Amino acid sequence: MKKIIVAIDGYSSCGKSTIAKALAQTAGYKYVDTGAMYRCVALYVLRNAPFRLDEGFDEEWLRAHIDDVRISFALQPYGTQHTLLNGQDVECDIRTLEVGNAASQISTIGFVRRAMVAQQQAMGADKGLVMDGRDIGTVVFPRAELKLFLTASPEIRAQRRFEELKEKGQNPDFNDVFADVKDRDYRDTHRAESPLKQADDAVVIDNSHLTREEQMEEVLRIFHSKQALLDQSAEYSPREES
Ligand code: C5P
Repeated sequence: MKKIIVAIDGYSSCGKSTIAKALAQTAGYKYVDTGAMYRCVALYVLRNAPFRLDEGFDEEWLRAHIDDVRISFALQPYGTQHTLLNGQDVECDIRTLEVGNAASQISTIGFVRRAMVAQQQAMGADKGLVMDGRDIGTVVFPRAELKLFLTASPEIRAQRRFEELKEKGQNPDFNDVFADVKDRDYRDTHRAESPLKQADDAVVIDNSHLTREEQMEEVLRIFHSKQALLDQSAEYSPREES
């Protein structure tokens, strides 16, 4: 089987990482959660910057420190994956609303995006990769063999996020979570740098009314038919040139 790059983009809280992880595991591919990378930059700023985010952002401070933000992923037993910031496991710390919001602000900065995109492209050089985010099929891997664009209604995404935060022991207010989902959608789709948009050649999956299993079945069907097509085609390069 030829190894490919699967780019999964979509709005926040529409289940991209769940499906991306499951697909990577089934295919024996690497998985990279690019949202976790922007969350790490945000956590680094929240912990180390000499300013508060709501009091104005000093971009020059971050420019001077961006190379000190070293992100890696560690495989855990049972196939799960944790995000490390400068060698420290921050998997729980990056999943709060505060960090998500800061990540959404910080991901609008051009030099931050360029630093993250360069690392992401290096991770895909040998293919065999499932990567999820907002700009994977449009900017990071515009030639990815398979692009999926996931979507669901804002109400349903807010409800899922709300449940997820409660499961993690947090005590969120539904209206805050809903407002947060809408704010992030606005910022993700309206920013000047790599706004979230569907690639022309992406397959769109609206999972508002699909169970995880139904969605996974659909994604696997698309993945296998793409692989079957590529196995018969001469148009394939085993390395991704970025
Ligand atoms: O997907 P997740 O919610 O973890 O992403 C955190 C934030 O990082 C998002 O709000 C989004 O603005 C940003 N992001 C991005 N580009 C990506 C992945 C995430 O701008 N490829």
